[in-house]
Amino acid sequence: MVVVFGSVNVDATSYVREFPRPGETVHSSGFRVALGGKGANQAVAAHLSGASVELVARVGDDANAEVPMRAFAAFELPTDGVAAVPGEPTGVAQITVNGTGENTIVVTAGANAAFGADVVEAERERIARADVVLTQGELPIPTIDALALAVDAAGTRFVLNLAPPVPVAIEAVALADPLVVNVHEARMLGLGAELPDDAGADAWRDAAASAVGALARSIVVTLGARGAVAADRAGSWAVPAPDVDAVDTTGAGDAATGTLAAMIAEGRSLPDAVRLAVAAGALAVERRGTVDSYATRDAVLGLAERMEDA
Ligand code: ADP
Repeated sequence: MVVVFGSVNVDATSYVREFPRPGETVHSSGFRVALGGKGANQAVAAHLSGASVELVARVGDDANAEVPMRAFAAFELPTDGVAAVPGEPTGVAQITVNGTGENTIVVTAGANAAFGADVVEAERERIARADVVLTQGELPIPTIDALALAVDAAGTRFVLNLAPPVPVAIEAVALADPLVVNVHEARMLGLGAELPDDAGADAWRDAAASAVGALARSIVVTLGARGAVAADRAGSWAVPAPDVDAVDTTGAGDAATGTLAAMIAEGRSLPDAVRLAVAAGALAVERRGTVDSYATRDAVLGLAERMEDA
């Protein structure tokens, strides 16, 4: 069982030819509303990967809350840990994509910012029942710090995706098993800071291996089209990504992280779970959208098997 403590957003995307200048109004050529927030995305990915998932999250008491609640119902994701915060808006990401594919994003954390450490306290029983507790960098920092300690005290495994790379306590990062970061986030933590931009997977694997124990209990660094590396006390591994036609990399990291947590929860070793996570990430970039682009467990297992044969 995977319990995800995380953010929920409504992603509202407008497609325009050119971004409006200050004071200017432009018309869009299209508009899309979709489920977003790293917590929600990763919960869906873990659920599709076959884990029993419980999401603990906060939405607002506004009409926008309908968007995530309907999406969770469509995925048959349990929502008894999702509550509405009176007087707060549901988290919103207002995204604008221009004709050349660049974007601007305005995030209103709303109810996600009201997700306090008191929620961690109230959820101790759920934390104790979980095999894995997963969180990201989109909750208030004191909440993440309290969660790390509560999960450790319960003897449950803590998976921390430090995205965005907010300054949580080093003691909280130290409890992560694994800490999951992309290369930018890794560098913000000082991991691989000395590596050149074109550093290969082997260099990243060595960097992760030398930081194990000091930075976190175990470490996974995702390398985009180059796959991912992982290290724990037992060893270190590089998992190349399969060659795929990348059409939209949005949410690939969330697909990989949610799948990783699900596979660890079912008892797989770190290198095995990372191989499946890389497969899930690769499948997610082949299709447009965020959670709509996530693959089923069977598809992930199938691709991972072909990766092993390759
Ligand atoms: P983030 O989205 O957090 O920046 P990454 O870009 O590292 O994370 O991507 C996460 C995972 O998604 C990678 O480990 C890989 O498995 C997969 N992935 C991302 N981009 C590609 C790509 N172009 N081709 C194949 N797999 C990809």
